[in-house]
Amino acid sequence: MRTLRDISLAIMFAAIAATAAATVDTEALAKQNGAEFHWFPIQKTFILVDKADTLKFAVGLPYATSHGQTVELSRAPAIEGGHIVIDSADAAKFFKATPATEKPASSIAAKSSDAKVATSSSASKTSVAAKPATPKNETAGTREVRTIVIDPGHGGKDTGAQGKNSNEKDIVLSIGKLLKKELEKEGFNVKMTRDKDVFIELGQRANLANQWDGDLFISLHCNAIDATAERKKQIKGYHVYVLRAPESEEDKAIARRENKVATLYGEKNAKEELSPIEWFKLEARLEKYKQNSYMFTEEMLKAMDGGKIKRQSGGVGGAGFMVLVGALMPAVLFEIGFISNPEEEAYMVTSKAQEDIAARIAKAVSSYKDAVHSYRETLGR
Ligand SMILES: [Zn+2]
Repeated sequence: MRTLRDISLAIMFAAIAATAAATVDTEALAKQNGAEFHWFPIQKTFILVDKADTLKFAVGLPYATSHGQTVELSRAPAIEGGHIVIDSADAAKFFKATPATEKPASSIAAKSSDAKVATSSSASKTSVAAKPATPKNETAGTREVRTIVIDPGHGGKDTGAQGKNSNEKDIVLSIGKLLKKELEKEGFNVKMTRDKDVFIELGQRANLANQWDGDLFISLHCNAIDATAERKKQIKGYHVYVLRAPESEEDKAIARRENKVATLYGEKNAKEELSPIEWFKLEARLEKYKQNSYMFTEEMLKAMDGGKIKRQSGGVGGAGFMVLVGALMPAVLFEIGFISNPEEEAYMVTSKAQEDIAARIAKAVSSYKDAVHSYRETLGR
């Protein structure tokens, strides 16, 4: 039951948030309320777990999940000075006690929250079990890895990015076919969304993968930038993408370029970008596959790093690739190299390069399978 005092404090918190845009360190917030804090650095998501609830947040998205429901936040969680912070008004929505805020209003907020701790010791949020509930996503890495779906991007009327002497659609098809051979040697069941130069809609690619009940979806692409010749010479490298809210304008631009085909050819439900609420709903739906997508990404980085094409910046990114949205399985989009970079284009068109790249991806798939299967054994499956 909310007392008049609680309401007045809530109003005070709201006022503080509105005037000073105060933020709260989530780790301190969890500590003060006896909740467990778990941060997933690659996904940029975090959870606060206590006996009553598992709260899920994602940096950059103004929504949280509480008791399995989507809740709108005043402001998206952010990383500030090495701390993961949420708006103090949002902290007050979920917790009785909020720690000192990081903006000038902190002294008022600290006092009022102290008062609140003293008066609300019987509240459910403050009487938390020592052992938190196990986060659901810890059991996500158990899908057996048998069927691999290879998706060579573009095809037919959609050439993909164009280099000086080659098209993206041809390079990715050649590598896709070689990858299929490699994986079949290893005993995998392999399906391809296309094995010739045909046009297939983005949504249809994921549908096929779902029909085949794939265990891993790999979409193959070549990156490109539209820039001066000098800049094209500078920008190169491979990049592995997962479905995650984009954190940079560059990642957004890559997704827009790869998604453009859908709007260009009038595909149903086509869009170049997802809205924040669509992102958040998707996050909840994809929770099951996310851990595995990241596990495979790790293996891709290990396998690709010995090759001729080097990582571009960190090598891992996230954006709203429509081809990944519908796939109900762990999924990545691999930008093999830059077709707009003369050196990488010249390399990627050679059969030697294509064989090496296919062999490296196959190695990543095998290592990923081993990792998943050994995890299954520890669970006695
Ligand atoms: Zn592409």
